[in-house]
Amino acid sequence: MEKIDNLFDKIVKIANSRGFVFNASSIYGGLRSSYDYGPLGALLKNNISGSWWKDINQDSKVSIFPIDTAIIQSSEVWKASGHLAEFTDPMVDHKPTGERFRADQVPENLKKEDLTEPRQFNLMFETNIGPVQNENSAVYLRPETAQGIFVNFENVQRTMRAKLPFGIANIGKSFRNEITPGQFIFRTREFEQMEIEYFCRKENENEWFDFWVNKRLEWYKGIGIPEEKLRLREHEENELAHYASKTVDIEFDYPWGWGELEGIANRGSFDLSSHESSSGKDLSYFDSETNEKIAPVVIEPAGGLTRTLFALLCSTYDEEVINDTTRTLFRFNFEIAPVQIGILPLSKKEELIKVSNEIQQTLQKFFRTEVDVTQSIGKRYRRQDEIGTPYCVTIDFDSLEDLSVTIRNRDSMEQERIKIEDLLDYFLKI
Ligand code: ATP
Repeated sequence: MEKIDNLFDKIVKIANSRGFVFNASSIYGGLRSSYDYGPLGALLKNNISGSWWKDINQDSKVSIFPIDTAIIQSSEVWKASGHLAEFTDPMVDHKPTGERFRADQVPENLKKEDLTEPRQFNLMFETNIGPVQNENSAVYLRPETAQGIFVNFENVQRTMRAKLPFGIANIGKSFRNEITPGQFIFRTREFEQMEIEYFCRKENENEWFDFWVNKRLEWYKGIGIPEEKLRLREHEENELAHYASKTVDIEFDYPWGWGELEGIANRGSFDLSSHESSSGKDLSYFDSETNEKIAPVVIEPAGGLTRTLFALLCSTYDEEVINDTTRTLFRFNFEIAPVQIGILPLSKKEELIKVSNEIQQTLQKFFRTEVDVTQSIGKRYRRQDEIGTPYCVTIDFDSLEDLSVTIRNRDSMEQERIKIEDLLDYFLKI
């Protein structure tokens, strides 16, 4: 695909105009860096997270248990994990205006001006639990889903009778009071994560680390992000978090350049042993065959659902000039597209609407479909292209005679005539 001018602005505009992503509280002027997902965005998000889960659940090489943990946990969790003390970014104030910046993100023109010394700013959102506010009532919105997994390690292992190696997968909202959010949904204060903690024996850590890097990279390609827009970047020694012995980021080529999409880290046994010593609970793994007590090592593939959605919008957006007019499209694949099949009766005549509705009743049981009756057929094709619908089915007056319809392929724009009774089979075979 050729490089597209002003890609970022175009994505933000279409996301809003076609119902993918709206600025939050927009009727009140909007809340900066906070977003609501519209009908197509909500569908797309579901399809991405569904594909993520399917990919790990259906792979017979791994054993993964899902979990869905609370956003508000005991503050002891964040004390033990180190987030209360260390989940900070350095912040400076620009004295004349009172504006605040992350120390490494001060705009060039302000660097020589009157700035305060950097001080550490904790990124966790604090709130209070219960009606009385006191020193024991403070709680935090989780800044990652991973800790919900570690504190449930024993619960899952015991109830599922899980044997090493096995993984636990958690998906959901996380919150970080980012000093400098921005670039649309790339960096927000409220976002969704898809995290896996894969517990294994120390002697197999490298093998599993490589397995997960490869598996996650293949998944991004599988959902339709082109290979050339993805790369791996291993963290330098001085970048590594203190608990990680190795980290590889899967990076994406955003409109402004390469940046993180997912991080895969070998966290050793840091998390389980921190929670073990803080809680006093035994979080080791007992191997009944060898009678050994083991401290499992954990490999963590930590991805962002909302960031993946953004990467997908950027990498599947395309423009094509056809007969002097430009059509814009998202080249979503069939599995991921919010609407998979557009059903378009050529006119609003009752006989055609009836056939369209019958076709939808059959297809909707298996696919995400939409009947669109407004505007000319050309405009409707353009709208379906713009929201990334891979196929359109057009019902015309001949359909009433030959009981056939036209299928239009979004990418090739080729059309083929097919019997209505064969439609379901046609799409099931894709
Ligand atoms: P970054 O360096 O971009 O701040 P991070 O290294 O702090 O990210 P992790 O803690 O590894 O991120 O979180 C795992 C994933 O969660 C990231 O790869 C990203 O996809 C997503 N993520 C993290 N912070 C945000 C955010 N503020 N907004 C949207 N997604 C985020």
